This record gives sequence, C-alpha cells and structure tokens, in this order.
Amino acid sequence: MALVVQKYGGSSVADADKIKNVARQAVAAREEGNHVVVVVSAMGKTTNNLITLANQVTDSPDERELDVLLSTGELISSTLLAMALRTLGVEAISLSGAQAGIRTDSVYSRARILGVDPNRIKKELEKDRVVIVAGFQGITEEMDITTLGRGGSDTTAVALAVSLGADRCEIYTDVEGVYTADPRLVPEARKIEDIGYDEMLELASSGAKVMHSRAVELGEVYKMPILVASSFTDEPGTLIHGGASVEIANKVRGIAHDLNVAKVTVVGVPDKPGVASAIFEPLAKANISVDTIVQNASINKITDLTFTVAKSDSAKAMKVIEPVVKSIGARECVSDTKLAKVSVIGAGMQTAPGYAARMFSALYEAGINIELITTSEIRITCIIDEAKTEDALRTLHKAFELEKGL
Ligand code: ADP
Ligand code: ASP
Ligand code: MG
Repeated sequence: MALVVQKYGGSSVADADKIKNVARQAVAAREEGNHVVVVVSAMGKTTNNLITLANQVTDSPDERELDVLLSTGELISSTLLAMALRTLGVEAISLSGAQAGIRTDSVYSRARILGVDPNRIKKELEKDRVVIVAGFQGITEEMDITTLGRGGSDTTAVALAVSLGADRCEIYTDVEGVYTADPRLVPEARKIEDIGYDEMLELASSGAKVMHSRAVELGEVYKMPILVASSFTDEPGTLIHGGASVEIANKVRGIAHDLNVAKVTVVGVPDKPGVASAIFEPLAKANISVDTIVQNASINKITDLTFTVAKSDSAKAMKVIEPVVKSIGARECVSDTKLAKVSVIGAGMQTAPGYAARMFSALYEAGINIELITTSEIRITCIIDEAKTEDALRTLHKAFELEKGL
C-alpha cells in the first residue's frame, strides 16, 4: 500500500467547513488505496493572534513559554480534523509533534529537526487509521516543546514523508502551485509545472513563502518529490523534484520578494584589522542573523559598513551595535526599516551573461533606486524601497518575459 503525506496550511483549515473539506480530501486519498498521514497548520491567523496575545502580556515573552503557546494552534486544528474524520466513519487519531516522534534541537522559535522516531505513526497506520500530526513543532531531549519557525509545518510534512518512506509529499495551500512570482502581487504570474530543488530552495530562502526553505532542503537531501497544489481546486499543482525539468528553461525561473528586511549602516568606521569582527561577533552572540554585508573601499582609512537583518531584529541589532560604535571609534550607526528585497532566480543564469544588467536597467527605467546588490550563482538580489516592491516585481516579471512560459 502506498503512503502519502499531505499538509494543509492555515487558510485551508481556517474554519469548521474547511476542516470538513480537508477531511473529505484525506478520505479520498485513502479510498485511492493509500495510507494517509495529514499534517496541519494552525487555523487561519491563530499563530499571529497568539503572538499578539503574548506581546500584550509582556514586552519580551519567554521563548520557551512562547513556543508552547504557539504549538497549541496546531493542536486545535489536528484534533478538530480527527473528529471530522471520525464523523465520516474513518478511524483517525491526532498526534502532537512530540507524540509523532519529532525530535529537535533546543533553539526556540526556529528549532531544527534532528530526527524522527516514526514508530508511533507506523503503529497507528497498521491499525488502518488516518494519522493527523500537528505541524510546526517538536520536542527536545529535555522534553521541552519547540517550534520550527514561521511556515514550519511544510518542514514537518517533508520530514515525516522522508522518515516514513512515503511515496510523495503533498503540500496543499491557498494558491494552485508555485508561480513565477507571488500571484497576489503580480497578476500576470504563471504557475510553474515543475521546478528543481535548487531553484525552489533559492526562491523559498529569498522570501517566496509558498514553501518553507528547510522543507525544500530536506526534500533535496532525501530526494522526496513534493507536490504543491491548492486545497480548494483540482487543478494540477507544481512538482518540486530532482529530475530534468519538463519546462523549457527560461533562464530566469521566478522572482521572489521579502518585506522582512532592515538595513543597518555603521558610518565612519576606522579601516583597521579587527573592526568587522568587533561588529559581527556581538550580533552573532545575540542570535541575530545577518544577511547581506557591504563594506565600501576606504577613503583616508575611513569606511562605511552596511548590513541587513530581519526587520523584526533591527531594534535589537541597533542596541547591540551602539556600544560597539563607540568602542571602535566609528561616527554613528543608522538603520532603515522601510526596505524590501527582490530577487530573480534561475539555474540557467549562471552560464549566461547579461542578466544582472537587464535587471538593473529594468529597475532604472521604472524609477526604482537600488540600495544594495547581492548575488549567488543562481540569484541576483536588489534591496529597494519597500513601497516600490509591487512595481519592481511587475517590472521584472515583464523584463524577463516570465508570463510567456513554455
Ligand atoms: P499556507 O498557510 O498554506 O502554508 P502560505 O501563506 O504560507 O500558505 O503560502 C502561500 C502564499 O505564498 C500564497 O498565498 C502567496 O501569496 C505566497 N507566495 C509567495 N510567493 C509565491 C510564489 N512564487 N508562488 C506561489 N505563492 C507564493
Ligand atoms: N502556524 C505556523 C505559522 O503560522 C506554522 C505554519 O503555518 O506552517 O507560521
Ligand atoms: Mg506556509
């Protein structure tokens, strides 16, 4: 008997009717002759609401308590889905991440899965039950509950698919698959029929939140095919896989954006050994991850050093950096939180010149100023004014003719 792991996101389980709909889809997969494991996210905006609630109680919620609090969102949806399935006459059981054997490290709010003990799920499947697992959570060696980072239920699903030896992992969401850009901002965006892990990983880590990047990483390492499709329609979705693409490669595959970007500039930095480490070590100790770093060539032994962090970390980063500015003899430290990142991504770009120039001139023609530029082998990223994000996405989508497809 084949085994399928299905994951349903927050908007797919947002109310009782939608949960009943998911129950019917799980039954359909079972009636096709599969064992079925379903991973669910919290209902609708539950996770955001829980975060707001914690912030109303205190300015700095304890991270351990916050993870337990957030994990309850997925418990609600998983238990309701089990009840809905039983009402349809199907044996079903819900399990928390801990009960499902998901072991993580102890980095609260962005824990990584260290391993999965699949025995309990296997036992339940042997009893011919549909097993529903609360996404986005796991348990440490000390038996503390952790969460996997926003969007982390995708990662729960792929990790379970891998450890149970599933035939495929299906991610059901509120769009019909992976598009050439966020279809909510770019109406011309086109659904991609299939995409390689490497391009999908770059899209996800550049902000395309349709997939959690760690889920794609796991898929790639264990060669687990991942289907992204809509829970509301029967349209075929997007297959993420490691084989050759069916689509004729346009060299740019897609465009991603990320609004969670802030820039910090340390101005008037003396150009001498040890300065960069004096700045970045305290940031690392404070658990702040730094993305882009740009250091200008120095004039008269004085330079500026700019780096980006998540918007949510910018106030903390400024607090950490301010004493360092004094100690290294720099002039001041300024931040800008009204920024966004737009990235064009495509494995074909690495062997073809001219893509960066095309991106810059398209942005220039649209009157969009580029604040910072970074690249990887298959990605070019520009940091721009947040207010211009939608303009930039539509301009670039057109410039790279992404609406054209096959
Ligand atoms: P879920 O709750 O099902 O996990 P998410 O909100 O996490 O759903 O992800 C789906 C959303 O991702 C879509 O509604 C869409 O706005 C956004 N998105 C961003 N980039 C893309 C893209 N390239 N293709 C499809 N959706 C995208
Ligand atoms: N509920 C969590 C979130 O909103 C995890 C997820 O949806 O994947 O981020
Ligand atoms: Mg998601």
